[in-house]
Amino acid sequence: MAIAKLSSMVDLFFPRACALCAEILDEDQRGCLCSQCLELLVPLDNPCWKCGAPRGEGLQLGQVEKRKKPARSCRWCNNRRWLFQRVLSFTVYAGASIPAVRKMKEPAYEGLTRQLGDRIGDWLTGQLLPPSEQPILFAPEHYDAVIPIPQHWFRKLTHRYNQADVLASRVGAAIDQPVRSKWLHRSRWTQKQGMKTVVEREFNMLGAFRAGPSKAIRGKRLLLVDDVMTSGATLHQAANSLRSAGAIHVDAVVFARGINASRVTPRHPPANKHGPSESSPDFLRKIH
Ligand SMILES: [Zn+2]
Ligand SMILES: [Zn+2]
Repeated sequence: MAIAKLSSMVDLFFPRACALCAEILDEDQRGCLCSQCLELLVPLDNPCWKCGAPRGEGLQLGQVEKRKKPARSCRWCNNRRWLFQRVLSFTVYAGASIPAVRKMKEPAYEGLTRQLGDRIGDWLTGQLLPPSEQPILFAPEHYDAVIPIPQHWFRKLTHRYNQADVLASRVGAAIDQPVRSKWLHRSRWTQKQGMKTVVEREFNMLGAFRAGPSKAIRGKRLLLVDDVMTSGATLHQAANSLRSAGAIHVDAVVFARGINASRVTPRHPPANKHGPSESSPDFLRKIH
């Protein structure tokens, strides 16, 4: 009671603002978002079953193959062989989810990340239906553990915060499965994916992860968690490592599905056809 009183006193002098639109939040509003912004972050309706991309009109990844029976996967997936079985994407990377994803990357917005992790958890457990009210096909008991996409140790050392860890802890709690963040590591530094083409992204992520111990992972069904999937290269390589360590099934859940990756053509072919170098970024090279 005393804490509640103290909190309302603090709100009086330092009113809380919505993390996305800066609107002052009502006293009884929980979390970091106002109700309008929260309403903008809605689950995707009828996404691609395989990669979670929207299948709406005008979205390249969402184009459905012309068949008698409606296709469950999009054209993007029909030409690919993913090493994960399926990606569940809560929403699309557009509109309000763009600033949400950007802010989730900052330690100051950990509260927002927690709230969005809870929202993903509500969605996975059927408490948040998409507009057509089609429940998503998801069985929490199907999994043995939840695994966040890890950062490189140097980034972790400097940031002390990984948004995927926070999302995974909330998803794990919602579906009542343990989080095993030590089962997957970054084995080398990777450049930022932002401006890269699909080919460059895939090349950049080759061999970027190491999974273990095999004794623990063997025979397990795992659910990867990340903030965004764009080309799928990160989740594909993470699933590859876990499958090599003995996992029998790897799915993934992300907050937002980026849909622009397939529109970008390669600027230039990868320089080294044998895979990316094991080199570190400049500031690490100086240390070594
Ligand atoms: Zn707002
Ligand atoms: Zn797809």
